[in-house]
Amino acid sequence: MKVRLRNPDREVEVAGGRRVREVLGELGIDPDTVLVIRDRELVTREERLSDEDEIEIRPVISGGARMRCRRCKAPAVVEVRRHNAAFCRGCFVRHVHEQVKRAIAAYDMFGPEDRVLVAVSGGKDSLALWDVLLGLGYLADGLYLGLGIGGYSERSREVVRAFARDRGATLLEVDLAQEYGFDVPTAGRKGSRSTCAVCGLSKRYVFNRAARDHGYDVIATGHNLDDEAATLLGNTLRWQTEYIARQFPALPAEEGLARKVKPLYRLSELETAAYAFLRGIDYVVEECPLVAGNTQLRYKEAMNRLEAASPGTKSQFFLSYLERGAPLFSAEDTAELHPCERCGQPTTARFCAFCRARAQILGERLGEPRGGDEQGERLGEPRGGDERTSPDRELARSLSEEVLPAEIYGGPAR
Ligand code: AMP
Ligand code: ZN
Repeated sequence: MKVRLRNPDREVEVAGGRRVREVLGELGIDPDTVLVIRDRELVTREERLSDEDEIEIRPVISGGARMRCRRCKAPAVVEVRRHNAAFCRGCFVRHVHEQVKRAIAAYDMFGPEDRVLVAVSGGKDSLALWDVLLGLGYLADGLYLGLGIGGYSERSREVVRAFARDRGATLLEVDLAQEYGFDVPTAGRKGSRSTCAVCGLSKRYVFNRAARDHGYDVIATGHNLDDEAATLLGNTLRWQTEYIARQFPALPAEEGLARKVKPLYRLSELETAAYAFLRGIDYVVEECPLVAGNTQLRYKEAMNRLEAASPGTKSQFFLSYLERGAPLFSAEDTAELHPCERCGQPTTARFCAFCRARAQILGERLGEPRGGDEQGERLGEPRGGDERTSPDRELARSLSEEVLPAEIYGGPAR
């Protein structure tokens, strides 16, 4: 039996001798979205069809059967509900590039002469970011940090290496265990912080150091709109005002601290995943095995429920914060930095948070007493303003990308 389908116009052969709804079922078509026409008459879904019949299946919901690209009207492959738009492959890639260009321009993140170090985890976001920046002609090298999380870390490293090899791009690698004597699972078991907190602390420390040691102007991470909205939600629910004050897509360089930027903050997770897929980027789909039950994931789910009911909520929450909320919080940002006595990286305390965490994990003593009745310090012992360990702060730490912000970023948010 011949079936004519529309938008695009095409003909297929299917077996007759059955009801209309069975034929529609085989073709994966919802009976409520089409007219079925035989010999210029409409037929209902219970009508029997014979092998000799010729039918036309005509879509009735405009735009429903096949969405069209907003820019070029070709059949769309990705729908972006919050923009009320759909795109074909080529125009979607262009859309992503444009959002990144807009982000770079809005915060003057870097220019064509700047050396950019992209922190790449092997996941969709950071590889998509590296791909976009190379595509736009920026001087972008990658940095992979081996966290020692078993097969997950090994697979991530291989994916990042393959990406760099395919594009002839430069990749720096740092291995936490080799360089600093501990891996993330050990840190989680031995340290006083949660695994995610010490992992986040280590990443920010190593990213900053690598950028300074190798002369990069700026570090770029793959944080997307979903990450930023979830973090802001978590910080807001606890009114962590100093963390809120620093949640910015660009944090300036200052004494001992590299400039840090998040060029994907205007793009959702769905958009970065679609981009990576459409660009043929092989990325690690599995999640870190240690994040199960992570509080940030719950906030992401909550945001997604709100977004499903009212598309645009997520971007309004975060982008409007940047525009109207952030200026109100900037007074909260009052950190004063000086070099860590052990490693020279900036800190608000005598030793930086990373050196304190590391000494605790390795069971080392940190530094000699400075005199008076001060005892030699051990890592993880509360010290200084940002080291108080109330349950709220501990939770905020593991939640917030801007964990211990004063130590890592310092200075005013803009
Ligand atoms: P996450 O904290 O895992 O959500 O990652 C946030 C961002 O940090 C990613 O988009 C990457 O830019 C960067 N990142 C995370 N893990 C690594 C890693 N192992 N090596 C290099 N960069 C990483
Ligand atoms: Zn230090």
